[in-house]
Amino acid sequence: MKPAITLPDSTQRIVTCPACGGPSVYAQGNAFRPFCSERCKQMDLGAWASERFVVPVPAASDEAGQAD
Ligand SMILES: [Zn+2]
Repeated sequence: MKPAITLPDSTQRIVTCPACGGPSVYAQGNAFRPFCSERCKQMDLGAWASERFVVPVPAASDEAGQAD
């Protein structure tokens, strides 16, 4: 019977992927950390970028419309 591997190496730990909510290996070997994959990282960046495009239309103030 093989010894059970209980804990991962101290240099890595499992975190929750912010994009998909799945387990993500937070280690130097994971270039996409804290995401679990490149897809999730791109997904998050895309959401962040699209959010920036949503610029609220500034309400036209009355004083700007006065042409007296
Ligand atoms: Zn993920």
